Amino acid sequence: MIRSAYATLDLGAVAHNLARVRAFAPKAKIMAVVKANAYGHGLLRIARSLPDVEAFAVARIDEGLTLRQSGIRQRIAVLQGFVNHEELELHATHHLEPVVHSPRQVELLERTPLKEPLAIWAKLDTGMHRLGLLADEFLPCFRRLQSSSSVRRPIPVMTHLANADMPQDTLTDRQLALFQEVLSAVRAECSIANSAGLLAFEDTRAEWVRPGIVLYGVSPFPYRTGGDDGLRPVMTFRTRLIAIKSLKAGDAVGYGGDWICPHPTRLGVAAVGYGDGYPRHAQPGTPVLLRGQRVPLIGRVSMDMITLDLTDCPEAQVEDEVILWGDGLPVEEIARNTSTIPYDLLCGITQRVKMVEAQRSPTEF
Ligand SMILES: *Cc1c(COP(=O)(O)O)cnc(C)c1O
Repeated sequence: MIRSAYATLDLGAVAHNLARVRAFAPKAKIMAVVKANAYGHGLLRIARSLPDVEAFAVARIDEGLTLRQSGIRQRIAVLQGFVNHEELELHATHHLEPVVHSPRQVELLERTPLKEPLAIWAKLDTGMHRLGLLADEFLPCFRRLQSSSSVRRPIPVMTHLANADMPQDTLTDRQLALFQEVLSAVRAECSIANSAGLLAFEDTRAEWVRPGIVLYGVSPFPYRTGGDDGLRPVMTFRTRLIAIKSLKAGDAVGYGGDWICPHPTRLGVAAVGYGDGYPRHAQPGTPVLLRGQRVPLIGRVSMDMITLDLTDCPEAQVEDEVILWGDGLPVEEIARNTSTIPYDLLCGITQRVKMVEAQRSPTEF
């Protein structure tokens, strides 16, 4: 197979990043977040490379079913839980642990007799205001859950941090205070920290931590990269140069012609575009890595191609490998050049991009 636009996945880096997580929270149990196809890295591949995490978290039931049907035996929390009886029963049948975040779900649990009590997670909304029981409805709901024969006890409790990627923001402390206040009335295992909480807020490292992005080697903070916290990127997104040409000053490049060569330009064309998940809004100047050197994107990103200014990389040749992000070029940097976040870029890799586990050499496929 010819190699254009493919991604290599370094599973050794997953193990390394998990060890970093354990170093930050040595006593905590780990719920590894693998929603959205493990942030674009491949759900099963990543789940199988985390054999000793205590649990996984997925967003939706179908992701949990995929894990179960592939033989994953660890606990699996389903962050969105169920919205009707049928979905509740699917959780029970496949030993998926729904997050119970609304009074409506509490009612459904009370009205649905199950063969054996179901393990669930109760979620308190401490300020994110997305999913979660509100502070004043939490305790009555929690008591009802505790006395429901459909629910396994003890019930662990989670909350989600809205602004932990901004360590100066005061919301995290307010969320923590509300959590502690409401939970002072019950004894429960707790889960608060996402990746940003884990790294930046010691008090969020409770009995459980819920890292996502850091497991993939990427920083949750807009002003850092994973390397700053000793993480290693798992995904490296690659393609190759397919054409080189010399343009004159004043020549316009690409759709709309909005890049005008300011000087005689050696233009490179690389085989990747938004059809592969390379962001269409990457600004001119966004770097790619070619022969170990940063080379700027120019012109608009097309569906299958991008254009590069190779003027300062005269040794570049057709068939050279081009790294779009990953090893040597943090995806955090590409996200900044695209006014988005690394999560968005990682999840956005499309179907046609071949994924190769790093132990195999790229020529093998
Ligand atoms: C996605 C998610 C996480 C993980 O977030 P990261 O920033 O990737 O660590 C944790 N908890 C919940 C509820 C989530 O939705």
